[in-house]
Amino acid sequence: MARLYDSRKRILVTGGAGFLGSHLVDRLLAQGHEVLAADNLFTGTKRNLDHLHNHPRFELMRHDVCFPLYVEVDEIYNLACPASPIHYQHDPVQTTKTSVHGAINMLGLAKRLKCRILQASTSEVYGDPAVHPQPESYWGNVNPIGSRSCYDEGKRCAETLFFDYHRQHRVEIKVARIFNTYGPRMHLRDGRVVSNFITQALTGEAITLYGEGSQTRSFCYVDDLIEGLLRLMASPEEVTGPINFGNPVEFTMIELAERVLTLTRAKSKLIHQPLPADDPRQRRPDITLAQKTLGWEPTVSLEQGLGETIAYFRQLISSLSPH
Ligand code: NAD
Ligand code: UDP
Ligand code: UDP
Repeated sequence: MARLYDSRKRILVTGGAGFLGSHLVDRLLAQGHEVLAADNLFTGTKRNLDHLHNHPRFELMRHDVCFPLYVEVDEIYNLACPASPIHYQHDPVQTTKTSVHGAINMLGLAKRLKCRILQASTSEVYGDPAVHPQPESYWGNVNPIGSRSCYDEGKRCAETLFFDYHRQHRVEIKVARIFNTYGPRMHLRDGRVVSNFITQALTGEAITLYGEGSQTRSFCYVDDLIEGLLRLMASPEEVTGPINFGNPVEFTMIELAERVLTLTRAKSKLIHQPLPADDPRQRRPDITLAQKTLGWEPTVSLEQGLGETIAYFRQLISSLSPH
């Protein structure tokens, strides 16, 4: 126990009530740390943290990262930002502010505390990529004025701020470029493809394929992703990233729909709807850097991960139904 106590840290997780944030909080508490989650509950929910009610090493603070935050911590994970297109396009100005002002405030905090800070960046910094699969060295193909730009350019500017605070103020930074991640505690109707297809299958609605359904994505199970973030935070000081985290197994959206139908044994039909603007045609991470630097790679197959996620949504939907 003594060793655990010695290595116990006080860790700030912004966006801690969200999908990824709440899983990260669970892992950090399981490692014996004290965790402070700061979240304005825009897309996150206290329900994701209900099981931590009265936990002696956990605290949730309602806070918007666009405003300064004065707390004392040893490490910061900056995850605060709506992640699904429906949510981040709901108030695009606020989305850019969250990424940019949020990064400035959290970097200012890290600078004052001389502590490490990890940024949850995204594969969206590659835009609709002209290079496939995407290595970290690829600069991306991003529309600066489209409907996804508030998210993509906000995250790109946050990366710029992280590297400038690192060069100018010697802040210890870790930048993770996260590719599509899924799992329990995703929002029920946030428009993302995995949650959409599963809820549609479980409620007998038609599965909505945008465009032809031939566009590709690579889906990483949440437990694998969190393991990657923990390894990156614990890596030597010179490892700043950016480092890609994602599952390199690539699927078309039609293939994903078929997997979901098989696993749920649902009879939903497939219908086509218009492709959203600036929807990337293909996406797959090159994870060579994470493999070499951190010894990290995903271990959970799509079947296993979808099984866990379907079980979660099944329970959630039945708990919400009126009878
Ligand atoms: P999420 O929407 O479930 O979580 C985001 C959390 O941030 C929510 O709890 C929300 O309430 C909170 N938040 C939003 N604006 C805030 C603000 N101004 N101040 C404080 N809190 C605020 O999304 P997620 O999937 O858990 O994503 C977490 C992070 O990971 C985001 O930064 C996202 O951009 C990044 N990311 C996620 C994915 C993915 O596939 N899930 C992929 C790439 C990057
Ligand atoms: N900041 C914060 N908590 C701190 C220290 C700073 O929220 O403990 C915010 C502060 O509001 C500031 C921002 O971080 O605007 C950037 O800080 P920095 O020291 O880089 O800039 P300055 O204070 O010189 O503008
Ligand atoms: N998509 C789809 N049907 C849906 C939701 C999404 O075909 O009901 C497609 C979407 O057009 C995109 C892919 O699935 O090509 C992934 O979409 P998501 O919003 O989950 O993530 P992102 O586009 O940010 O990768």
